[in-house]
Amino acid sequence: MERDFTLKEVTPKSRDFSQWYLDVVLKAEMADYGPVKGCMVIRPYGFAVWESMQRDMDRRIKETGHVNAYFPLLIPKSFLEREKEHVKGFSPECAWVTIGGGEELAEPLAIRPTSEAMICSMYAKWVRSWRDLPVLINQWCNVVRWEKVTRPFLRTTEFLWQEGHTLHATAEEAEEETLKMLHVYRSFCEEMLAMPVVWGRKSDAEKFAGAEKTYAIEAMMPDGRALQAGTSHNLGQNFAKAYGIEFLDQSQQRALPWSTSWGTTTRLVGGLIMIHGDDAGLVLPPSVAPYQVVIVPIPPRKGDWAEAVLPRARQLLSALREAGIRAHLDDRDQFQPGYKYADWEMRGAPLRLEIGPKDIEKDQCVLVRRDTRAKAFVPTAQLASRSRELLAGAQSDLLARARKLLAESTTRVSSYDEFKQVMDTKRGFLVAGWCRDPACEAKVKEETKATVRVIPVEGEARAGACVRCGKPSSREVYFAQAY
Ligand SMILES: [Zn+2]
Repeated sequence: MERDFTLKEVTPKSRDFSQWYLDVVLKAEMADYGPVKGCMVIRPYGFAVWESMQRDMDRRIKETGHVNAYFPLLIPKSFLEREKEHVKGFSPECAWVTIGGGEELAEPLAIRPTSEAMICSMYAKWVRSWRDLPVLINQWCNVVRWEKVTRPFLRTTEFLWQEGHTLHATAEEAEEETLKMLHVYRSFCEEMLAMPVVWGRKSDAEKFAGAEKTYAIEAMMPDGRALQAGTSHNLGQNFAKAYGIEFLDQSQQRALPWSTSWGTTTRLVGGLIMIHGDDAGLVLPPSVAPYQVVIVPIPPRKGDWAEAVLPRARQLLSALREAGIRAHLDDRDQFQPGYKYADWEMRGAPLRLEIGPKDIEKDQCVLVRRDTRAKAFVPTAQLASRSRELLAGAQSDLLARARKLLAESTTRVSSYDEFKQVMDTKRGFLVAGWCRDPACEAKVKEETKATVRVIPVEGEARAGACVRCGKPSSREVYFAQAY
């Protein structure tokens, strides 16, 4: 395909959100479609964003006492079948390998949809005594879940993620771990992605197959749909029982450990794109931007730019890098500055630095914020400190704007008519009473597309009546249509 050298444009976000999203993913070169439906190619720029996120998440996982390991991609069918609820939940979306080396295999192998079966069967070999606990292991890998409707990053057949799998001697420790990791995810989303979330427990219909309890963080997207951004499961003793994990406790009695699992995926990249992007493309929070400052040199009207501006541009690049700022010099000779501006706007670089002959004369440069387009003339000597300030400003403004969006998209409703009316118009989170009956939740979904996203576990409970059936509700919950 011929490369498009014209200025890049996307469908306006307000006109067609869904098309806008796909345009941005492709034109910012975040990802492309692979040959198999639902299998995307994460392009270098998109992968650099994922790497920024991964680096920080990995640090947080390790700081909370976990270590990384790697387990096999292929899981024997009989392993997957040991936990009944688990296999029931995952088998419809499993991909199977039945032929290897040209021969039919004695036992089909699942391509991991998640690794509880594999990891728990190894834990059964490794754990003997209370001294072996807790086990706190995380793995970064890919998984495959056969999806019918797919969209880059948000729902893909193959995706990248981290999955933590832990074992504990007591139920209390397992519950503490489950919530600890949920809060690691929550602060990651707010601090790194500038994406505020609501959090709480999942209803039985939405919980992980085989779990006792699932907790989740959910973010609100600008089109009024909720994005599940991370989950943490208290698996109770279900998996220990199914996979034969036992330990001798301190009184030399055989006991079953309690396990947890928790994960976040490349779907977070999709959330990041949706929540901050605008009609000119991506807007990246400085914390995760591969390049926080992009330098665009402006050639002189006459003469050679390589002599007139490039040496100064390179000096500024070094000054920024020495100050610990991720900076990039766009010295591509074949593009005009106007094209480069549009290109880096599309890619969401938080700060653009313009440097031309006139700026060099005045010993200054121009910094332009991507999120607000605000322009600042900065003396060269203050470049690093001013850049840091502007980046911090962009990071906190993006979070503030996203918080405002979350608040504006949250509606407390008291009647089912009001519920339906909000779902027909702006959607968002609907805070309302719910009777805890799965049949009632299913009806709400059928009638409005909304499901229970989370049941808060903290804060005022506001007991009342179920918004649909009027039966007692002990606590209000968050409903929304989910991605
Ligand atoms: Zn009800």
